[in-house]
Amino acid sequence: MEKRLVLSSRNNYKLTELKGLLSDLEIQIASLKDFPEMPPVVEDGKTFKENAAKKALAAAQFTKLLALADDSGLEVDALHGQPGVLSARFSGEGATDEANNARLLELLRDVPEGKRAARFRCAIAIATPEGQIEYAEGSCEGAIAFAPRGTNGFGYDPLFMPDGFGGRTFAELQPGEKNAISHRGRALAATRQLLVARFAV
Ligand code: IMP
Repeated sequence: MEKRLVLSSRNNYKLTELKGLLSDLEIQIASLKDFPEMPPVVEDGKTFKENAAKKALAAAQFTKLLALADDSGLEVDALHGQPGVLSARFSGEGATDEANNARLLELLRDVPEGKRAARFRCAIAIATPEGQIEYAEGSCEGAIAFAPRGTNGFGYDPLFMPDGFGGRTFAELQPGEKNAISHRGRALAATRQLLVARFAV
């Protein structure tokens, strides 16, 4: 019997990524674009895991399907883990990527090379309509550059230099290179194993 899974997001980029990762499994994947009447979920958790759980449980209860949600962001050591769960709105509600990057550079203006360590984190939650929940996580260590470089990707990609890539930023890597080592790529790989092992997908 074919299984169904709903991605608790309206983001087409995330849907395509998930479909690609699970293409060899017998699973049909919907997204919240297929359930426009579902009310928005307030992302007020203190951790990525809390927010992912909230989004997954809400979608599972509303759709009565197995649901998957992710939440991610950047943690900078010199800023005691900021922007963290506020990554998308670091410089205010509805902030642009450029404004968020400018704020980050400004706050790190006097922080020298060697003290600019940071990591991206991604938490994924999978929930059943009955409220059972499982988690997968991924992270990627690196450092914050002194100026933006590169044009690929989104968000903080032009400022984030993953360890082991000679100082190139995420925005200077090819998408395949980034996916192989990124927080989201790693969390999705763990998710795939969870779906097969725990949910018999
Ligand atoms: P969300 O979990 O997709 O809502 O992402 C939260 C925010 O974290 C994004 O708006 C970006 O600012 C940042 N972020 C998450 N993943 C990445 C990434 O792979 N590259 C750059 N920024 C990211």
